[in-house]
Amino acid sequence: MTKTSTTEDKTKESRRLGAGPAAFAAVHSDSEPGPDCPLCPRLKDYRDANRQQHPHWFNAPVPAFGPADARLLIVGLAPGLQGANRTGRPFTGDYAGDLLYGTLIEFGFARGPYEARPDDGLTLLDCRIGNAVRCVPPLNKPLPAEINTCRTFLNATLDEMKNLRAIVMLGRVSHDSTVKALRLRATQAPFAHGAEAQAGPLRLFDSYHCSRYNTNTGRLTPQMFRDVFARVRDYLA
Ligand code: SF4
Repeated sequence: MTKTSTTEDKTKESRRLGAGPAAFAAVHSDSEPGPDCPLCPRLKDYRDANRQQHPHWFNAPVPAFGPADARLLIVGLAPGLQGANRTGRPFTGDYAGDLLYGTLIEFGFARGPYEARPDDGLTLLDCRIGNAVRCVPPLNKPLPAEINTCRTFLNATLDEMKNLRAIVMLGRVSHDSTVKALRLRATQAPFAHGAEAQAGPLRLFDSYHCSRYNTNTGRLTPQMFRDVFARVRDYLA
């Protein structure tokens, strides 16, 4: 009885979280690594350990969310262990998603309910979300070599977004990797919350990352975050 209930519970949990990593093999492309990407050995080992420990979590490189023809790209840091790494959708399932998706809905970049699960029906409008690093890193801290290695997928994401006009970079890691992907010098776009820079046809917007840590410490308030997206909305009006 106990075993049957546990199996049923896990099946329900899998459905609730959406497709597992195997289902994403089909979307392997220049911009999307396969579910078993081996390029960062430390992150692969961590992925394997999480698969053992949490077999019904997503536990794979998290693909970008939103249409490739969007004008806006939001670049985060990396999947959170119990957020995107669990659910398979960027910023879905942890506090950062509450603030990000609530703000996107408010400024017309998303529509529908955000219910912290990938099958909640939320749709991004003219907006796409990805991460500088596709795999969850231990303690939310990717190593420089991992950031550099995964930039190949960020490069491909940028290349395939033919209508791209604006990028919001959440935090310094995202900022630095995006600036490198765009082949800018660091002095052309120094990081600061609220900073903007022009890179050819692209407008770059900086924000502190919308993590729980940053909001709990007051480094980033919801209003500060909203102010960034208000300017993005004005720019893309
Ligand atoms: S972080 Fe990127 S490059 Fe490294 S293993 Fe994951 S998908 Fe591959």
